[in-house]
Amino acid sequence: MIQYLALADVLAEREAAGLTRQRKTLNSAQTCQVEIEGKSYLNFSSNDYLGLANSEQSVKAATQAGEVYGFGAGASHLVAGHQAPHQRLESAMADFLSRDAALGFASGYMANLAILQSLAKKGDLIIADKLNHASLIDGVQLSNAESRRYPHCDLGALERRLSRASQNRFVVTDSVFSMDGDIAPLNEISGLCEKYRAVLIVDDAHGFGVLGQRGSGCAEHFGLNQKQLPVMMTTLGKALGGYGAVVSGEKILVNFLLQTARTYIYTTAMPAMVAAGNLANLELLKQDPSLVEKLRENIHYFRHQSKSELSKFQQINLLDSKTAIQPIVVGENANLLAINRLLETAGILVGAIRPPTVPVGTARLRITLSASHSKKDIDRLIAAIKAALNQVLV
Ligand SMILES: *Cc1c(COP(=O)(O)O)cnc(C)c1O
Repeated sequence: MIQYLALADVLAEREAAGLTRQRKTLNSAQTCQVEIEGKSYLNFSSNDYLGLANSEQSVKAATQAGEVYGFGAGASHLVAGHQAPHQRLESAMADFLSRDAALGFASGYMANLAILQSLAKKGDLIIADKLNHASLIDGVQLSNAESRRYPHCDLGALERRLSRASQNRFVVTDSVFSMDGDIAPLNEISGLCEKYRAVLIVDDAHGFGVLGQRGSGCAEHFGLNQKQLPVMMTTLGKALGGYGAVVSGEKILVNFLLQTARTYIYTTAMPAMVAAGNLANLELLKQDPSLVEKLRENIHYFRHQSKSELSKFQQINLLDSKTAIQPIVVGENANLLAINRLLETAGILVGAIRPPTVPVGTARLRITLSASHSKKDIDRLIAAIKAALNQVLV
């Protein structure tokens, strides 16, 4: 009986702590200008880093695939749901990522659960960065392995944990951390994995489309090959503007996951329309690396302008990020919410991230940049933040 669960008490506690979350319903496509309840907003809160979520090509490819392959896949991949666009997407992704093979998943969340649940066994040890994404944390729990966390990007602590163990070891990390935007030192981490014969697992959700000259992600950025980075998870819902994920590496890894991953086997394949849309956007990224360059310019411009325009506000902290995720730590939940309300009134959407997603006392504006923002958009954002900070903090 639901009334035994004290749900109302928990919700009331959250409300009192300023932690209640609300959805906004968009009446438009996901672009840098979105419409909510009849009002238009300049959008700095999506993960659509290259502005591909509403690309003409993906919409057209999805529509055409729908005409051939229908709407639903109708079955799991291993039963009868694996259609030609799924197959093409896996090959194209493996090729673009310079990996031998790739296996497609319905989402990055499911892919991370699959990796950890399938590869790590009872008696093994998983060593994980403290700031890893929730899906990796859940994957660790789902595996029956032992686990240890290390302080964020602390190589000394990681090495100590590696050197004290003798069983099968895995090191698991985000490439780009989703709430801070910083990049894990994967070259050093991969070196430690080699030294201690540990298997490196990297979640490149926010690196793909952002890092590397071609935008193929963290492996390109650090020049890491498949031996150095044996298990890589790449999502398609962020910079690629689509949906789904792939895990890539040697053929044996992909085959092993195909045979054993529960979140691959016991779920319906993504609609072929989605696979076709993903493929079309991948083609755009391949053909036009200037998209990635444009994003990089916007990141640089945003950082330059906010450092000069917001420098008088000692209470805030623009985190040191070179990626599309640009957090400004405000501190208290109440201040963050007040600032966020003013931004919304000014027609600007940013992420307002509070605990438990981030540590208590580090509530932050999470600004995400896209190749499709103009310099004018960024100027407008910074002017609105400045006005809001003047009102709330001064
Ligand atoms: C978004 C995200 C995921 C989950 O990917 P979905 O495809 O959205 O399920 C996994 N890891 C990280 C770091 C993410 O940011």
